Amino acid sequence: MNSLLLTGGRVLDPANGRDEIADLLILDGKIAALGPQAAKDAPAGVKQLKVAGLVVCPGLIDLHVHFREPGQTAKETIATGSAAAVRGGFTSVVCMPNTSPAIDNSATVALVHDRAEAAAAVNVFVAGAITKGIAGEELAQIGSLKNAGVVAITDDGHCIQSNETMRRALEYANMFGLPVMDHCQDYALVTDGVMHEGYWNTVLGLRGWPSVGEEMIVARNILLAAQTGCHVHCQHLSAAGSVRLLREAKQRGVPISGEACPHHFTLTDAAVAGSEKFWSNDGKGICGYDRMSANLPVWPSYHTHFKMNPPLRSAADRAAILEGLADGTIEILCSDHAPHCNYEKEVEFDFAPFGITGLETELALSLMQLYHAKHLGLAELIAKFTINPAKLLKLPKGTLAVGADADVTVFDPGREWVFEAKDSASKSLNSPFLGWSWKGRAMATIVAGRTVWVEQTLAGGV
Ligand SMILES: [Zn+2]
Repeated sequence: MNSLLLTGGRVLDPANGRDEIADLLILDGKIAALGPQAAKDAPAGVKQLKVAGLVVCPGLIDLHVHFREPGQTAKETIATGSAAAVRGGFTSVVCMPNTSPAIDNSATVALVHDRAEAAAAVNVFVAGAITKGIAGEELAQIGSLKNAGVVAITDDGHCIQSNETMRRALEYANMFGLPVMDHCQDYALVTDGVMHEGYWNTVLGLRGWPSVGEEMIVARNILLAAQTGCHVHCQHLSAAGSVRLLREAKQRGVPISGEACPHHFTLTDAAVAGSEKFWSNDGKGICGYDRMSANLPVWPSYHTHFKMNPPLRSAADRAAILEGLADGTIEILCSDHAPHCNYEKEVEFDFAPFGITGLETELALSLMQLYHAKHLGLAELIAKFTINPAKLLKLPKGTLAVGADADVTVFDPGREWVFEAKDSASKSLNSPFLGWSWKGRAMATIVAGRTVWVEQTLAGGV
């Protein structure tokens, strides 16, 4: 019998309202007991992991990652992506369908499931495309995708422009009980913008991607969610207006939700002008960095690791995202982990692909910007990585209830470390946060009772 006893940790399980120092027993891949019963029920010779001083919570879920299979394995594979996930403390991920070819039919879903079965250290869930080839025109076979096991549909990376097509997609998705996730971008307003439209794009001479390009589609989604009754989840929100719209719609009971990524609530568009401009304008106080600190991270202007879609926005937008997370308007945290090869990013800003990696840094950034900065309590923060995404996608995850799958994350909210290229398991290194100092780190990642990753200093305890 596979068994593991985690002793002396702070068990934090928002799904069941638990926050206490307790032992946790895992037997045969399931949570078997919690508290005093755990040691009593443990079989002779049980493997032990001493986790006193650490937080033990349900395995973290990232519902927005790009593992690039099939078709773009130079950037990432399911194996390397999931290796990055476990280092970040994640036990489940949801892969986006904008692969090559797109995941818009049951055969491609099966292919990803097979690859995950063979190569992934984490639970890999799949989001199917809304339209064929993610072209925004003809609907994919949504029922067939559901039968193949997708947990949601989205055209992420793209956005359906026709309101009529989106309406029909929501009607079909609703019949099959699938949430629809949307990358909110109005093409007519955004055109070929590469960074936030505001002060800095004017200074830098780069074409602007205005906030209203996102807000317009968030408003559209709210209206269509109300019309159809289908749940719409707005992906990677970046703009203050989006948060306002969402807050108001949720108060009226519209089936709508949203997610935020750490880069959007940490950085701003000033970062595209280089580190000097960033630290002297919007960087003050983020992640515990003092403006006068001697070891502030340094980068040049026009650095393509600060190019993502939607773009980094103004300090006011960043404050609105933080406020939305604090008051519960935004219920879910995710990375939008989007690996790209060095040669693709080592070009002029205009020509670089959008996107950054994030799985290995999102827990630390969230702890610093939300918990250490006192916007959120630890339980509320963990809920946004566990039970909230599990509820949205109806996954039997995100809980430490007895009998549940033993997906468990152990982390140290106070652990100090530096994110270095040599420590990354991702195939790509397009992160704006290389060399940054953090406070808060995953220490062990357990999937179905198996310890798939453990931080060096804790490794002796396994
Ligand atoms: Zn997207």
